[in-house]
Amino acid sequence: MKQTKSYDVIVVGGGNAALCAALSAREEGASVLLLERAPQEERGGNSSFTEGLMRFVYNGTEDIAALSPDLTPDELNSDFGRYTEDKFFDDMARVTQNRTDPDLCEILVKQSNAALHWMRRQGVRFLPQFGRQSFKVDGKFTFWGGATLAAVGGGRGLVDQLYRAAEKAGVDIRYDAWVRDLVHSDAGVSGVAVKIDDETQEIAASSVILACGGFEANAAWRARHLGPGWDLAKVRGTKYNCGDGLDMALRIGAQPAGHWSGCHAVGWERYADDFGSFETMDDYERDNYPFSIMVNADGKRFLDEGADIRNYTYAKYGRIILQQPDQFAWQIFDSSVTHLLRPEYRARRVTKVVANSIEELADRLQDVNREALIETINAFNASITRDKPFNPNVKDGRRTQGLAIPKSNWAIPLENPPFEAYAVTCGVTFTFGGLKVATDTQVLDTSHRPIPGLFTAGEMLGGLFYFNYPGATGLTSGAVFGRIAGHSAAKSARGSRQIGNVA
Ligand SMILES: Cc1cc2nc3c(=O)[nH]c(=O)nc-3n(C[C@H](O)[C@H](O)[C@H](O)COP(=O)(O)OP(=O)(O)OC[C@H]3O[C@@H](n4cnc5c(N)ncnc54)[C@H](O)[C@@H]3O)c2cc1C
Repeated sequence: MKQTKSYDVIVVGGGNAALCAALSAREEGASVLLLERAPQEERGGNSSFTEGLMRFVYNGTEDIAALSPDLTPDELNSDFGRYTEDKFFDDMARVTQNRTDPDLCEILVKQSNAALHWMRRQGVRFLPQFGRQSFKVDGKFTFWGGATLAAVGGGRGLVDQLYRAAEKAGVDIRYDAWVRDLVHSDAGVSGVAVKIDDETQEIAASSVILACGGFEANAAWRARHLGPGWDLAKVRGTKYNCGDGLDMALRIGAQPAGHWSGCHAVGWERYADDFGSFETMDDYERDNYPFSIMVNADGKRFLDEGADIRNYTYAKYGRIILQQPDQFAWQIFDSSVTHLLRPEYRARRVTKVVANSIEELADRLQDVNREALIETINAFNASITRDKPFNPNVKDGRRTQGLAIPKSNWAIPLENPPFEAYAVTCGVTFTFGGLKVATDTQVLDTSHRPIPGLFTAGEMLGGLFYFNYPGATGLTSGAVFGRIAGHSAAKSARGSRQIGNVA
């Protein structure tokens, strides 16, 4: 097998976590090679498919202005609220049912603000997400979900800015570089086997950082680990995250960690393509379900659409949709709320039905039990406590009474036609199962001992997310732990044991 030049640090992957790791290792003076499986035009993994939204701790307008200094006085006159450390901890603990690894969660939360400032120093620009994470209240933008800033240009903008920084910093980058294995001996990991230009070669390195995503794009692994039916889910993002990094690490004794049967999955256009593409990436989201009722093929509701704001329920509802007969559901909206629907509901690739009466709607949703649907809607309409006004900006407490499956907020009767219905299925975003790490991101083996020379970050880092996920935490996790991984791997490459907090 061909052998080429060696590096201090090899980073496997080409998304946000990998790029942050590569930049951080370069800052420590390491020579760095980044190996991205995708061709250049598809680079950036799931990170490229994001809105670039990042959850981080901030204490008001000043903190927002510090990260987004070009805002006009008018824009600064918005209600950004505060997102405190306590709130971030609470959100992580609540949505993961208290399973998030406390040490990793603490690092994530406490270093989130510093990580965004560090990214800014690398050249990433941020702006508040006025359109999608806030509503206008009395003419003022009011943010609601802790996910306030996004990278300029969304995910693709973020990735482009990070690649530019990596090139400038002197990171060697190879595209179409499919890493197949780790070079490993009793002394630890000392490089990778990678297929470049149809030729497999070994490249030596003192440290390897695996940041090559989960197994969401691998139908066989999904069925094996997430369970029956998951092979039928649509993949929202990159087709290149097939679990390669997890596989090669487990083969040399790395310890699995986190929720291997869990993933982030959402309601997604029913007839979406099997994998994400940059052409369609904005068209398939259907995130306004809190203002709808969702019904399955049996004509029944099956979850509390208004349990919480979208950021805290969307990532777990894909699984519940997948469990419905034939893996689909319809979101049905009254005309009084259709003006609140995001632009993708008006996009070209939408499976939509409009009807002027409930009976007509029931006729037109041909794959739904007609009588049961009418009964469901009538019972829903009759169950709503109407004394509370509808308010899309807060959990308004306008709820149903007496239904087996409640709707806890935003309960709007279906009584003003035309009604609009949108068909959804399950779209998988990323998997939660990963590798066990020490707090410096060094991978541990199944004897709980560090594997010399092996580090990880991003989706591959196990133990942060279980069952659910607070929206916009994935990029923050990749930045925080990617940054630590680069630092740790570079230090390790230099033979130093002095590894610590990089904030
Ligand atoms: C549609 C969508 C929207 C999202 N929106 C947001 C959002 O707004 N905010 C947020 O925080 N999170 C969001 N997420 C989640 C977010 O994308 C991930 O949490 C995050 O990007 C993961 O970063 P990563 O670097 O670990 O993985 P990725 O960005 O997926 O990068 C993995 C990289 O590894 C490469 N790779 C895979 N296998 C190999 C191999 N064998 N050899 C070499 N390279 C390999 C891939 O090509 C890719 O470049 C969204 C996800 C999707 C799909």
